[in-house]
Amino acid sequence: MKNTVKEGAVTEDTVKEGTVTEDTVKKIFIAGEWKLGGGATIKSHYPADHSVNAEISTASLDDINEAIEAADKAWRDPSWRDKLPSEKSAVLFKAANIMEQKKQFLAELQTRDNGKPLAETFALVSSAIATTRYIASSLETLDNELTNQRIKALMTFTTYEPLGVVAAITPWNSPIASEIQKIVPALAGGNAVILKPAEATSLIALELAKVFEKAGLPKGLFSVLTGKGSVVGEEIVKHPLVQKISFTGSTSTGRHLAHVAADKLISTSLELGGKSPTIVFEDANFDIAVNGVIYGIFSSSGQACIAGSRLFIHESIYDDFLDALIKKTENIVVGDPEAEGTQMGPLISEDHLNSVDRYVQMAKGEGGTIVAGGHRLTGEAYDKGSYYAPTIITGLKNDAQVCQEEIFGPVLVVIPYSDEETLLGHANHSIYGLAAGIWTEDYRKALHIAKALEAGTIWINTYKKFSIATPFAGYKESGVGKEKGRLGILDYMLTKSIFLNLDETPNPWSDPK
Ligand code: NAD
Repeated sequence: MKNTVKEGAVTEDTVKEGTVTEDTVKKIFIAGEWKLGGGATIKSHYPADHSVNAEISTASLDDINEAIEAADKAWRDPSWRDKLPSEKSAVLFKAANIMEQKKQFLAELQTRDNGKPLAETFALVSSAIATTRYIASSLETLDNELTNQRIKALMTFTTYEPLGVVAAITPWNSPIASEIQKIVPALAGGNAVILKPAEATSLIALELAKVFEKAGLPKGLFSVLTGKGSVVGEEIVKHPLVQKISFTGSTSTGRHLAHVAADKLISTSLELGGKSPTIVFEDANFDIAVNGVIYGIFSSSGQACIAGSRLFIHESIYDDFLDALIKKTENIVVGDPEAEGTQMGPLISEDHLNSVDRYVQMAKGEGGTIVAGGHRLTGEAYDKGSYYAPTIITGLKNDAQVCQEEIFGPVLVVIPYSDEETLLGHANHSIYGLAAGIWTEDYRKALHIAKALEAGTIWINTYKKFSIATPFAGYKESGVGKEKGRLGILDYMLTKSIFLNLDETPNPWSDPK
């Protein structure tokens, strides 16, 4: 195995290569202290060769109670609660600067944890840094509101206050970005955060704990509790002191957490799965569209909630466009996630590869034709890892199971269409509504189709572009609530309206004497 962590970036915190011994078990961050958690250990594996990056302790029930009780005290503590927004945002700016200094290391660590190519993990770290700075600025400039006067002599204003303890639960596919996207606005809103990362990718979360500790965040305001979702995650969200569940992950887990939140009457933000349609019109810029479609599905090896996994091509260009797609797909550079030029790395695990392959086999059973890929990759470069060939399937109807369920892998289904009505019917026929892509040179048509599509994010002549300034939300079973945006902090705050009587006019029923 090649050592990925560059010299100079190696610190005592660096993932150790080779065999795991007892003293390499990683401590977790509970109520401001680094401790071995009381739960069973878990291992982080490098998906490119399945070697063990690190063995990590996990939280026990006692650890969970300790962290949440400390969190509840910490956000209420006046020494933090009464700080000016500018003083709180200074801590967040410092955290962004620390991440900037550790950029190389954080990107490499994330690659070790989930096998994404370094170019992608660098982009994710950059996004996490930019998000932190954006939210810190937004906190500095967030105003309470003097509301419009409707009753003479009454001054009315609205203030925003912390919710309390927020549970942040995250998936493995883009941990640093999705974790920062929750932690930072929640902290900016004056809350404490308990982060439960995915089992496969705890290492980045633990690094984030070091970042915020070094930035001077008071003890207890942030804990990282590693472990299984069904055990550790479940106990965290059900804890009576947890006031919000901020979740990114699968629709089935999200639905379960919505039930938990409903029982407790607390709020949620749920960023869930997708099966996003991409539409290519006959007047699309051919080469740019081919490239965009390929990038939209196969980057991150298709392990992206927003992957453009259902492609609709106008019948007049279907054959040519499909030929070009196949050629380009066969030239995708799949391999070592650390090598320069790699476009697609391995899948996260063997289990996940098998699940992707089951869908491909199912497609054959449903009458589909595999026109590219359709198998795991073998050979010296691939045998140690979980590599799957980028795959294109034709010949299926939109209601086939493979066209309706999220595969979360490098699998694209392609369907021709002839008229707009059928196209929209098919594109919107999905339980999901996360994103969609439109490729056309006609901007009037593009905007008309964008309006008609049932999805929270629409890309026109581009795909998978993000901005922290732009809210991100799923329609239908892709989510509840939203993330990002300048006022994203308010999703982690309570609203309080205050009425101040400026004269001595009594209320009705007062004694007239
Ligand atoms: P998952 O739902 O299996 O797990 C997500 C997190 O939830 C993990 O930390 C897991 O441990 C935890 N969890 C599981 N059961 C739990 C429970 N009972 N109580 C509390 N926590 C629990 O999802 P995954 O496989 O890690 O991630 C892939 C999914 O995430 C895909 O469906 C993908 O579309 C979705 N995703 C969505 C977005 C978005 O922004 N909409 C972004 C990334 C990923």
